[in-house]
Amino acid sequence: MKPEIPRLPELGADWSHEYRLGIMGGTFDPIHYGHLVTAEQAREALALDLVLFMPAGRPAFKLDSDVTDAEDRYAMTVLATAANPAFDASRFEIDREGVTYTIDTLRALREHYPENVKLFFITGADAVLDLATWHDAEAMAKLATFIAATRPGYDIEQARKRLDESGVPFDVRYIEIPALAISSTNIRQRVQAGKSVRYLTSESVIGYIRKNGLYNVHRVERVEGTHIR
Ligand code: ATP
Ligand code: MG
Repeated sequence: MKPEIPRLPELGADWSHEYRLGIMGGTFDPIHYGHLVTAEQAREALALDLVLFMPAGRPAFKLDSDVTDAEDRYAMTVLATAANPAFDASRFEIDREGVTYTIDTLRALREHYPENVKLFFITGADAVLDLATWHDAEAMAKLATFIAATRPGYDIEQARKRLDESGVPFDVRYIEIPALAISSTNIRQRVQAGKSVRYLTSESVIGYIRKNGLYNVHRVERVEGTHIR
């Protein structure tokens, strides 16, 4: 399927003012309050007009691990972002064939949007540490400003040093966000173990997980039993 370039509400015909577009990429398996707080505070700190949440189709970093169906990850992203008028969920990466590389997304958006649209790619501090090793990092650095949110256990100075040493001229803004040690991995493990995930992500996402039996022990056993993996 050919991915559709996201529509930007309120961009309108006035190309004279700067439109600041945030892109929050991730596997979102599932999306959680860590992602949402990061995006909201990045939006506020850098005066973003809109943050697009883009679940990755086949994440380049996670090829060897099992990732939940893209439609489920997208649906949860829609549910979690629905109430915030400055958030939107985008199918752009899940509708694209093959492995997801951020550079391809940034290029497509840059080519499509008028010049007054400025791109900001939001990442957690763990992701920013590795930025220079991402596919086509040099090109990426030219297309967007990167917003790095600190995450518990990750050190800004370490990220700064590593990026400086890489020689790739990334424009990175560091923002401090409330310490949220939530991860999708932990949520999946808790669901699998039958533990509560309340207040780690939205009620709507939790409802979706339960209704569709995601991350469920029984489901995993069934799949293993039929040798599908
Ligand atoms: P997993 O445990 O499966 O790796 P995750 O919780 O790290 O999932 P991802 O979808 O891998 O979530 O992350 C998407 C983006 O969100 C990355 O840039 C990551 O750094 C950032 N991020 C993830 N969790 C947090 C958090 N608790 N606080 C701030 N940023 C986060
Ligand atoms: Mg991660």
